[in-house]
Amino acid sequence: MLGLMQDHPLLISSVLEHALCSHPQVEIASRLQDGTVHHCTYADIGQRAKQLANALTNLGVQPGERIGTLAWNGYRHMEMFYGVSGMGAVLHTINPRLFAEQIEFIANHAEDQYLFFDLSFAALIEQLAPRLTTVKAFVALAERSQMPPIVVPNLLCYEDLIGDEPETFAWPCLDERVAASLCYTSGTTGNPKGVLYSHRSTLLHSMATCTPDGFNLSSADTALLVVPMFHVNAWGMPYAAAMCGARLVLPGADLDGASLYDLMQRERVTLALGVPTVWMTLQQHVQNAGLMPTADLCLNRVVMGGAAAPRSLVETFETRFDARVLQAWGMTEMSPLGTVCNALPKHRDASLDERIDLQAKQGRVLFGVRIKIVDADGAELPRDGKASGHLRVKGPWIASQYYRGEGGDLLDEQGWLMTGDIATIDPDGYMQITDRVKDVIKSGGEWISSIDLENAACGHPAVAEAAVIGVPHPKWQERPLLVVVLKQGMLATRDELLGFLQSRVAKWWLPDAVAFVEALPYTATGKVQKMKLREQFRDYRL
Ligand code: ADP
Repeated sequence: MLGLMQDHPLLISSVLEHALCSHPQVEIASRLQDGTVHHCTYADIGQRAKQLANALTNLGVQPGERIGTLAWNGYRHMEMFYGVSGMGAVLHTINPRLFAEQIEFIANHAEDQYLFFDLSFAALIEQLAPRLTTVKAFVALAERSQMPPIVVPNLLCYEDLIGDEPETFAWPCLDERVAASLCYTSGTTGNPKGVLYSHRSTLLHSMATCTPDGFNLSSADTALLVVPMFHVNAWGMPYAAAMCGARLVLPGADLDGASLYDLMQRERVTLALGVPTVWMTLQQHVQNAGLMPTADLCLNRVVMGGAAAPRSLVETFETRFDARVLQAWGMTEMSPLGTVCNALPKHRDASLDERIDLQAKQGRVLFGVRIKIVDADGAELPRDGKASGHLRVKGPWIASQYYRGEGGDLLDEQGWLMTGDIATIDPDGYMQITDRVKDVIKSGGEWISSIDLENAACGHPAVAEAAVIGVPHPKWQERPLLVVVLKQGMLATRDELLGFLQSRVAKWWLPDAVAFVEALPYTATGKVQKMKLREQFRDYRL
């Protein structure tokens, strides 16, 4: 017997319509290229998204066709999130930090029909245009007076394109399973692979994000999205914020510590989301400039995800910013959210130290995501907080395969996605990542967690950033090498650092050597590029 409830598809257009009804006057603040802050409302975004949908229809865009963007976080990009997906096309956000060849590959692979770009990428567009085989026109996200002097076939102006279009649009009643957006993983090996999200997966994911054990997002929040809209749709925040009427702050291209601090202060940001490296930069700015975040800001929560948040960073935000750190874990293949680290009632009386220990974990799953750890043969391991194994996940906002069948099987025989992460799960359900499979250090048949070592090293007052890689060893197969960037004007010797680590990690984990470098190599999404580091230290002999 079927239930007798109304059947409405879960569509991105319905999120916008809800925002237009419930909180049309809530603001979206965007920092523009000239440094000024532009303010508009969900009502404005809605109206312009409909104008865009009309314009795309006039251009002949068909359901399912891909529309590319090369853009920072800003209101026009937000309009595209709703206008493009709402009318049935697929929003393809491209990471502009990738190499030009990778962008070319991605846009051609996705067969993007139109490519919308921020002015800061005008030169890149000019360089790429002749090689983008499917793009019919390039649209500058700008007014007519700002059009860049580039030579590109079919260059259009966004404001001209939407300016004369009607402010109403009848959103199509799509099947909720049709594609809404497309993101490519940065692909540390091989070509980038596309993850194709549906309307349904996007809405379910965003609803879970809003829950109290997720980001606890509500109309009380002003959320700063430092995480780029091209990085897994800014972790779903443009949808989640519209669902609950949170105010949004979109920082544009300036993501340095001073710019972010200024924006947080001016716009009274309560919740900020980004990768740990961004928060490290902000922390250093606060320290160097002698700022008083507790007096200047009203930051309540900071979400750190995309890479492990070092304990020392968590501590700084808890103590110097008086903000609660929510570590979050996920993947592009997971829309991206899988776990968030929130405390349980039993932690209410925990000391600061105990709380920070907890927050250094990746957290507990949201309803919708299932996780398990397995051994090399695929047998499930106990949730005792000790056994570590290959992490596998399942759920309605997790990819079943890559776009156009690239990259082989994502799932095991039972339909679980193989994450490539190694983790423990404790009896309370807290998951902790110890490593990527390809980064673990195999020493004498045992595994050493590079993340734990990095975490410990970052606790040293002179260390700005740390990465640990395995280097060949004649007896132990591999031994850890600690690669360190020191804080400006600070000094530390190898022996000091190893002495510091001695009381913090198992003796046999202690790195055999320390290398001091000016900077660590990072991926386009803020992860240390271990492969590059291993290459750099390929000939290193212990
Ligand atoms: P990319 O950003 O390189 O395209 P993803 O964002 O999909 O790729 O990266 C997912 C991976 O990032 C995870 O499998 C995990 O290894 C790592 N990761 C994400 N969040 C965390 C976290 N909080 N702690 C540790 N590792 C994390």
